[in-house]
Amino acid sequence: MSDVYAHPSTDAQPAADLLAGYTTLRLGGPAGRLVTAVSAEEIVQKVQQAQLQGEPVLVLAGGSNVVIGDQGFPGTVVLVRSRGLRVLTEDADTVTVRVEAGEPWDDFVAATVANGWSGVECLSGIPGSAGATPIQNVGAYGQEVAETITGVQVYDRTDGSVGQVDAADCGFAYRSSIFKYSDRWVVLSVDFRLARSPLSGPVRYAELARSLGVEVGGRVPLADARSTVLRLRAGKGMVLDADDPDTWSVGSFFTNPVLDREAYELLRERAADLGEPPSWPCPGDMVKVSAAWLIDKAGFAKGHPGPEGTAISSKHTLALTNRAGGTSTAALVGLAREIRDGVHSRFGIPLHPEPVLINCTL
Ligand SMILES: Cc1cc2nc3c(=O)[nH]c(=O)nc-3n(C[C@H](O)[C@H](O)[C@H](O)COP(=O)(O)OP(=O)(O)OC[C@H]3O[C@@H](n4cnc5c(N)ncnc54)[C@H](O)[C@@H]3O)c2cc1C
Repeated sequence: MSDVYAHPSTDAQPAADLLAGYTTLRLGGPAGRLVTAVSAEEIVQKVQQAQLQGEPVLVLAGGSNVVIGDQGFPGTVVLVRSRGLRVLTEDADTVTVRVEAGEPWDDFVAATVANGWSGVECLSGIPGSAGATPIQNVGAYGQEVAETITGVQVYDRTDGSVGQVDAADCGFAYRSSIFKYSDRWVVLSVDFRLARSPLSGPVRYAELARSLGVEVGGRVPLADARSTVLRLRAGKGMVLDADDPDTWSVGSFFTNPVLDREAYELLRERAADLGEPPSWPCPGDMVKVSAAWLIDKAGFAKGHPGPEGTAISSKHTLALTNRAGGTSTAALVGLAREIRDGVHSRFGIPLHPEPVLINCTL
């Protein structure tokens, strides 16, 4: 199992412990207190303790989808470091697996591929923990976890109970769920139902299908899907690499805007000189448009520099990087603001951040 998280060696950390050491952006001021929880029971215990002491609590796992302000977090930060997975039920066609919240997501995906369990292979290479995947309904290359999650075991901070939120009640939507921006639930583990199959699910993403040499909708051996996704992601700086500052990011900084038909037609008019904006149909006659395209066409190319050594990744227009490694969160947010405002004034479309902003605003 990979050791992908930075680990404090003891529970009580000095107040000056910078959260920058626990985020993939390498940004974030001091934590009031940092504690580590290595099991579901410990997660509950440590969140309860902090609550009893009247302290604000931040649950942090891989730190790959947070932007933490330079002031840090003036309460208890609970680092989720529980590990493990176990089969709950199985039959000839499916297997239901429970994964502890702190299990590194990509270790889990690798295990599913090795075991011949199909359903999350296109989500290879996404950083962070299994427990955070329901938070924003993690997705990539035509798959999202909403398709395979059956239930999420949670600690409910409002009444101190431990229970399950069934998938149907998770409010899964594009990069969203009831858990995102809510302090109510702490995810302890997640159940996934996967197909027993040596083949991937139908490949839905055109670029992936092309790279695999199949038609959209075709299936390929699980290991091929995984290795091709990993290769495509690495080429875009979307697999963490300590030596590649293009990956010192939160992945995509903005979500793809989802527009109603009228707003989409307006965009097409405003972009008439630029060709057809890339788009995908969504339920309810909505249209999802590419944030990367909007950003690029608004004049922010790959590598576009921001203040204090921040920059758009040289490999992907949607990733904002702290490539100098010592920059302030204020500088990164400044770059994000410049891009958001530039896209708005060119196309009239508001961009929204994908990561969770903690003690900072855009
Ligand atoms: C290079 C790169 C590529 C990426 N590519 C993708 C991608 O393709 N698709 C995609 O969807 N995302 C992508 N991401 C974003 C990120 O990896 C995912 O959102 C991931 O699931 C975050 O996991 P984490 O453990 O790092 O969460 P953290 O950053 O630690 O936390 C994120 C949020 O979830 C909350 N949280 C975390 N764990 C728990 C828990 N156990 N209980 C309650 N709340 C919790 C935190 O409080 C915070 O609000 C990428 C990020 C990077 C850096």
